[in-house]
Amino acid sequence: MVRRVSIFGSTGSIGCNTVGLIAAEPDAYDVVALTGGRNVAKLAKQSRDLNADLAVTAHDDCYGDLKDALAGTGVEVAAGAEALTDAAERPADWVMSAIVGAAGLPPGLTALRHGTTLALANKESLVTAGRLLMQTAKDHGATVLPVDSEHSAVFQGLVGEDIAAVERVIITASGGAFRDWPDEKLASATLAEASSHPNWDMGQRITIDSASLFNKALELIETHEYFGIDPDRIEALVHPESLVHALVGFRDGALMAHIGPPDMRHAIGYALHWPDRRDLPVDRLDLAQIGQLTFRAPDERRYPALRLAREVMKAGGLSGAVFNGAKECALDGFIAGRIGFLDMAEIVEDVLTKVTRDSHMMAEFTLENVTEADRMARSVTMDIIQSRQG
Ligand code: NDP
Repeated sequence: MVRRVSIFGSTGSIGCNTVGLIAAEPDAYDVVALTGGRNVAKLAKQSRDLNADLAVTAHDDCYGDLKDALAGTGVEVAAGAEALTDAAERPADWVMSAIVGAAGLPPGLTALRHGTTLALANKESLVTAGRLLMQTAKDHGATVLPVDSEHSAVFQGLVGEDIAAVERVIITASGGAFRDWPDEKLASATLAEASSHPNWDMGQRITIDSASLFNKALELIETHEYFGIDPDRIEALVHPESLVHALVGFRDGALMAHIGPPDMRHAIGYALHWPDRRDLPVDRLDLAQIGQLTFRAPDERRYPALRLAREVMKAGGLSGAVFNGAKECALDGFIAGRIGFLDMAEIVEDVLTKVTRDSHMMAEFTLENVTEADRMARSVTMDIIQSRQG
């Protein structure tokens, strides 16, 4: 049976890998919608190659270029945040959520309201609005499948298991670009240095978040929100080889590890073919050649993001939206050269203290309140960045 699929964020790193898997079996899929941001040329090419019904750019000012690039192809074109959500209204059997940042939440929620299967790479959806997302899926008989490699690994480790038998979940971290740097060098880390990952080939934002361990912080929250595991049963572990993606510990003492190459096509392909397992074009590991795997505890003093994630999980409510909004805005500040590498965590902590003191954070958990918490967090973060620049 031909499956209807849509890919949100098709021009990014996860999006392109997804397009590649779908393009390899053109007769198996009917592509409903592809969406991108500023990379109009790539979006147009993907839309032509996959014969998509609709192509959407998130930016109104890119509409003309996209329209021109797709003239005469029969691919419908739209632009803007609302058009993204409208695209998610179109019936699809499988939807990839691979927009980066909180902008990925509204289309994902809309797709779930149609009872679709949502392959979720956009971890920010779970961090900002996990409860809302999972409840929406439940209410509409929809399925959320994790695509983040660690969460896909945990999900696979839980097949056939009773979640009540899980004692702990361990997610691994490569340690990012600066894992072997001395503490005193971190303050002067440059954008180029933070944008280079030792093992994974990913978008720039998640690569920098890996260097600061904000990515791992988001993933701790993601684990809590998706699997419903208590925060103090979720651990992060530095594993420089990035081959063990996660481990699930059971009450009888068994630890199940998921091992595979650092290639997102595994987790994407698993979500695409779930509940089946199909051939995927990823390298097969030769463990004898690898020889050894190493692990060490993360230094939470050096990486305050992990401690902040634990505070967010404990606080609950809209604090995840505040944490993520502040992190995204501080990351923009670092990318723009307005603040240093270590300033990001300091500022996020400051914003969390300021914004979550507000009684507003007790508000009902709706998309509107999540959006408002995100807006407040960004506004306070910008003020702090401004004041630091003097
Ligand atoms: P990229 O930066 O490579 O791609 C992001 C995608 O989102 C692009 O299509 C981009 O468009 C689009 N986009 C950017 N801003 C907006 C916006 N405001 N509104 C709508 N679309 C937008 O990111 P990644 O592929 O690396 O990551 C995507 C998501 O998956 C993130 O949440 C990330 O944390 C998660 N993830 C990624 C992994 C990886 O290996 N890359 C691993 C695990 C999770 P354009 O480029 O055209 O401007």
